[in-house]
Amino acid sequence: MILDYPLRFQPIFRRYLWGGRRLATVLGKTLPEGDDYAESWEIVDHRADQSMVVAGCFAGWTLGDLVRQHGAALLGRHHPQPQFPLLFKFLDAQRDLSVQVHPNDVQAARLTPPDRGKTEAWIVLYAEPSSRIYAGLQAGVDEDALRHHLWQGTLPAVLHQFEPAAGDVVLVPAGTVHALGKGLVVAEIQQASDTTFRLFDWKRIGPDGKPRPLHIDQALAVIDFDRGPVGPVMPEATTRPDVERLVNCDKFILDRWQLTDPQPLGGDQRCHLVAVLAGATRVDRDATENLLARGETALMPAQAGPINVSPNGGTATLLDIYLP
Ligand SMILES: [Zn+2]
Repeated sequence: MILDYPLRFQPIFRRYLWGGRRLATVLGKTLPEGDDYAESWEIVDHRADQSMVVAGCFAGWTLGDLVRQHGAALLGRHHPQPQFPLLFKFLDAQRDLSVQVHPNDVQAARLTPPDRGKTEAWIVLYAEPSSRIYAGLQAGVDEDALRHHLWQGTLPAVLHQFEPAAGDVVLVPAGTVHALGKGLVVAEIQQASDTTFRLFDWKRIGPDGKPRPLHIDQALAVIDFDRGPVGPVMPEATTRPDVERLVNCDKFILDRWQLTDPQPLGGDQRCHLVAVLAGATRVDRDATENLLARGETALMPAQAGPINVSPNGGTATLLDIYLP
């Protein structure tokens, strides 16, 4: 079997109190009954959380199995890897999410069990008026000031915050205090890690009648107090007029394509993660043709070479994410 075609995976839905139905209404996902759909994990290979291929000769394989047994074909120049290094999901935040921070790679490697660090980036897909993003501390806030506000229960007073608009992109490096506010639907690309230290939970009570645990000491140990306020990124032009670079960090590169006519994607000995945000996109591979609808994600294995992508009428917006 040759791993040379666009891989589609079964989304893994996560239901939490803070979810809703906007993954269906904003992104066009087919959701079962229920009004608490918080996350759709599109691409994941982290311990027991495994994306599963839905079509082609690798149908039924997990992403972890592909990385282990067909790593060179999948990852190209980035082979070998112990796991797929990135995790991609959509989120529907109907309530403010907890204020949290993630460790970097060095800090996470010392944990039991060891994990990766977590640098993440958000692409805002929908924002209710007056919704908020909290990213970074206000300038000059040091550990003593932060401890004081944690003790007083006034942490939000020292968080940098802004009102996001659809299309905004925010890079949240490991060590940055952050929270997504209510009323947002975002796409999130992150290192494949599950280590979160919660600093503040808006004084809420959990479903069991108790506040959720906080991890103040662990959080304070990994906060980058030099980070300061974090705002939306300024997209940069690329050599291709229809492609802008949103993020170029040492963990991932994130490009946004405004596709009006057929273009080759990939062919650089890398695996590409492609997510469609608007307009359906045709993904052609030899004689076979796939249609990626809005809200759908695929992995283009390195071995597939360049793959033609084209809008299915009009313009399509897609994210192209890959390792540096
Ligand atoms: Zn986070």
